[in-house]
Amino acid sequence: MAELGAMPPDPGPAAWDAILPARAPYPTLVGEQHADYLVVGAGFAGLAAARRLHQLQPEARTIILEGRGVAEGPAGRNSGFMIDLPHDLSSDDYAGESLDNDRRQTALNRAAIRFAAQAAQDYAMPAEAFVASGKINAAATDKGRQHNLDYARHLAGLDETYELLDAADMKALTGIAYYQSGLWTPGTAMLQPAQFIRGFAAGLQQQRGVDLYEYSPVTACTQRQGYWQVQTPQGLVQAKTVILAVNGLIQQFGYFARRLLHVFTYASMTRALTVDECQRLGGEAQWAFTPADPLGTTVRRISGVGGNRIIIRSRSSYDPTMAVPEGRLDSVARTHRRGFEARFPMLKQVEMAYCWGGRLCLSLNGVSALGQVAEGVYAACCQNGLGTAKGTVAGIIAAEQAMGVAKSASLLPDYQPEAPPKKLMPEPLMWLGANGYMRWKELRAGREF
Ligand SMILES: Cc1cc2nc3c(=O)[nH]c(=O)nc-3n(C[C@H](O)[C@H](O)[C@H](O)COP(=O)(O)OP(=O)(O)OC[C@H]3O[C@@H](n4cnc5c(N)ncnc54)[C@H](O)[C@@H]3O)c2cc1C
Repeated sequence: MAELGAMPPDPGPAAWDAILPARAPYPTLVGEQHADYLVVGAGFAGLAAARRLHQLQPEARTIILEGRGVAEGPAGRNSGFMIDLPHDLSSDDYAGESLDNDRRQTALNRAAIRFAAQAAQDYAMPAEAFVASGKINAAATDKGRQHNLDYARHLAGLDETYELLDAADMKALTGIAYYQSGLWTPGTAMLQPAQFIRGFAAGLQQQRGVDLYEYSPVTACTQRQGYWQVQTPQGLVQAKTVILAVNGLIQQFGYFARRLLHVFTYASMTRALTVDECQRLGGEAQWAFTPADPLGTTVRRISGVGGNRIIIRSRSSYDPTMAVPEGRLDSVARTHRRGFEARFPMLKQVEMAYCWGGRLCLSLNGVSALGQVAEGVYAACCQNGLGTAKGTVAGIIAAEQAMGVAKSASLLPDYQPEAPPKKLMPEPLMWLGANGYMRWKELRAGREF
């Protein structure tokens, strides 16, 4: 590792954070610090790693460096579905390749959800930050319903509980007539992602020996006499062990080159609805839908400290530069507007207050970039679009590996090391293939999009 490039920008505002009350800032790193463990990145993976390190060795000194503001990066920009069940985005109906793999992944995701639930309790997060509500796969078409039925069959094979909902159930829940059916599963936790990340960071910062610095991007790393010297614009941390929890940006650190797919997805959030608008809409104050077709539109209604709002997420793009071109968000905002008006005709006059994007990291073979990558350096990256649960798993595993915890003492005994991420095709072949495939899947999603 040596000099890193500048961190690429996160497109648009961090809306979930913007709707929360202002918070006290964390310091920026200035001067030299020494730590036993340095965690780079304060997303799901980094915060989980820091919590697990502290659980295992409370007397150790751990520093967390976050290049942006806490909850401003992808961890505070997502739709907040912390999903327990198989959720393979490259499939037609989320089912994984084999029952065995899906059972193992579900066990890991559930352990991550328990870990997050315990953190929410220990750090006295507001109730809205983490709600064990389950979620619904919503279908707007016959094809979507068929995807749900196929997925239900797969769940039955896994001995998992689910409930099928009809058009009347969906209307009663949402107030809208757009959806024909749904499939409810109980195990997903719904996060207000920025509130959860803020609460997690604040809880860790109160632990003795844990210090978090924000707006402190790592700019260079060098190894000297058994220690890593990690530089930020105004400071330096010296640590024997480093956990890189930066998702796709690990490529800037010199690891997994040409093995990680940098994909963006996008969301829009309405302004707070008025009482009159809520009444016109009807339905319940909170619900959360993933689309029956994996490349369809995710829709959530929230009601909490930021008011009553609707959030929609759709569109994906592969951008190997890790940044999106100017004008992308304008085009995304138009797509979101169309999707919103089709679903919520009674709220046509409600403007979107925010439109944003966020970086995901996927691998061609759906595996993480996890484990030791150099002497004293551990990766907890590449969450394949499901970082709330998988990032938490990666953080726990990286912390346990860094400390040499035996499998029998692991929080995640079901974890099995995976093959490394597969090499990508050369550009522009990869760009054409990935973007062409996603556009085709979005078109095929029809009214689910
Ligand atoms: C619109 C949208 C909707 C999504 N919906 C969902 C969902 O419902 N459920 C789900 O599970 N996932 C969802 N995701 C994906 C999810 O947000 C990511 O998978 C998750 O954030 C990855 O967690 P992480 O901790 O691995 O990485 P990140 O959240 O990306 O955290 C890494 C952190 O490292 C910091 N960093 C990077 N480089 C440096 C550096 N050089 N120095 C210091 N800090 C650095 C970054 O600023 C960042 O904060 C969604 C994403 C988007 C954009």
